[in-house]
Amino acid sequence: MKTLFEKIITREIPAAIVYEDDLVLAFRDIHPAAPTHVLIVPKKPIPRIAEAMADDQKLLGHLLLKAAEVAKKLDLKNGYRLVINNGADGGETVPHLHVHILGGRHLVWPPG
Ligand code: 5GP
Repeated sequence: MKTLFEKIITREIPAAIVYEDDLVLAFRDIHPAAPTHVLIVPKKPIPRIAEAMADDQKLLGHLLLKAAEVAKKLDLKNGYRLVINNGADGGETVPHLHVHILGGRHLVWPPG
């Protein structure tokens, strides 16, 4: 069965897309936790970072480099945070690896 994010990748579910290439898609989070909240996902449906394999090394590097490029494109000059939630305690709700790009306000640390 397709994950929610696979359906966004295939355009079965609409999303506000901000970046796309052969390997990744970035789109705005439907429930933004900050003035700018974008998710960037690999098109390959890796469920979560704990299940990434050695073969995914290049893809994961690409995902992070593109996250930084998207943050730049979104003009997050004052900084931003990249977050990967993994599993129940990590707050993961969609089993398709995604990096949150959060910015546009001061983010506190540690997170809740
Ligand atoms: P997680 O909690 O798994 O790290 O993050 C999943 C994120 O997906 C949440 O921030 C949630 O708001 C977002 N989300 C859930 N459903 C949709 C949707 O249908 N469209 C978009 N654009 N984001 C979604």
